[in-house]
Amino acid sequence: MHNPKSRKMKKAIPVFFLCIIAVTLVFFAKRCTTADDTAYARIRAHADNIRVINTHEHQQRPEELGDHRFGFFHLLALSYLMGDMNSAGAGGYNMNELDTLSLDELWDRYGEALNFCRNTSYYGHFARGFGKLYGFSDPYFTKDNISGLSAKVEKNYKNYGEWFDRAFHEAGFELMFLDQWWNTFNTDIDERYFALVFRVNSLIGMSSRKPARGERPGSIYREAVRDGFEIADLDDYLAYCEHLIRKNIENRAVGLKNAQAYTRTIYYEDVPYDEALELFSRPSASLTPGERKKLEDFMFHWIIQRSIEYNLPVQIHTGYLASNRNTLENGRPTKLNNLFMKYPEAKFVLFHGGFPWTGEVAALGKMFPNVYVDLVWLPQISREEAIQSLDVILDCLPYNKIFWGGDCRMIEESAGSLEFGKDVVAEVLARRVQRGLMTEKLALEITERIFRTNAVEVFRLEEILERSF
Ligand SMILES: [Zn+2]
Repeated sequence: MHNPKSRKMKKAIPVFFLCIIAVTLVFFAKRCTTADDTAYARIRAHADNIRVINTHEHQQRPEELGDHRFGFFHLLALSYLMGDMNSAGAGGYNMNELDTLSLDELWDRYGEALNFCRNTSYYGHFARGFGKLYGFSDPYFTKDNISGLSAKVEKNYKNYGEWFDRAFHEAGFELMFLDQWWNTFNTDIDERYFALVFRVNSLIGMSSRKPARGERPGSIYREAVRDGFEIADLDDYLAYCEHLIRKNIENRAVGLKNAQAYTRTIYYEDVPYDEALELFSRPSASLTPGERKKLEDFMFHWIIQRSIEYNLPVQIHTGYLASNRNTLENGRPTKLNNLFMKYPEAKFVLFHGGFPWTGEVAALGKMFPNVYVDLVWLPQISREEAIQSLDVILDCLPYNKIFWGGDCRMIEESAGSLEFGKDVVAEVLARRVQRGLMTEKLALEITERIFRTNAVEVFRLEEILERSF
């Protein structure tokens, strides 16, 4: 007997199974296509839970920059983005003038150059800082949205101490290394946020700029007089430099920093003591450029020897130079090769991935157990270069040799730098997980290492981190 119901049933059963199969396929297909995003999201979220050790900053308090009514354009002027804007034709700025112009006038002056930079990493990380700390979510800065931001900046900077404390912790920092290029000899810093790194540029550079009789002494010689040191010969000069290094150590300095690539080559010849002694004894004005260089070269070798004695890692600027117009070649990383050969006991930290010589930095870090790599500032210079370089660095170096730092003057920009840094690290590691090159567990460990643990170990921060305020 014909039974329409059972015929319908017979048809419905395969359709039912087909549906189940289709749903299952869609489910697994979705899982496959989102696996990378999921790994990225988990690594990125893990990075947000790390109390970050930021190995390089130049944070300045507003009063150190003069008496200004801080607004959006002041922060912009003090940021790296200003360099790109000058490249686009902005033509510089004057902090005092910024105080006197209205936001409309400032936009008329800088708006076009700012807009031409909407594609750059400097722009991106600067905007991310406002995203993190001010809830800014528009794709770009505009004449309209800047006025609201500027009012908030002005309000925050009226009570800067409170604002800095909140922003510092909201951004995810636990400790920043402070390189005071504007106040090299100051050792009195706010240890709730900072650890000292002693910038040694003047110790090196001033060795060939000894004041002549009656001449106004340069920085280090003035400082020596204040501290009761008389500098007549090289031994006196070295004794005073040693005093300064020890003073920094007494104030819990965690490292030394050489940023001489901004003013000279980072190739330091090995100059014998007797030759340096003779060069120092002569009036500095009589020295040829080659002789000045020799004296300075001697000084950096001497400083590295002290760094070994006091167990202080030496951070060195390599590669790209901030602001506009300079001699790029001066900071080429391989120029340091002789130092790595001569001082296996010293710890050298190469900054900025040596951009554009990122491969050289990876190679040097791979060759020498005592050469470390700091990604500091690289994601802000070029996000994509940072991604490619970190991938190469991870191919070449054990992961206990990599650090991260921000390298900014104001907390807003540092916050944006950290966001950029975390994005870069998470993107590179998530792709490796997806390609089966490493487990997600290892990716999480490497993230923790880059943003915290490596710095704690290499710069011996345990005691500093135990501080309670
Ligand atoms: Zn710096």
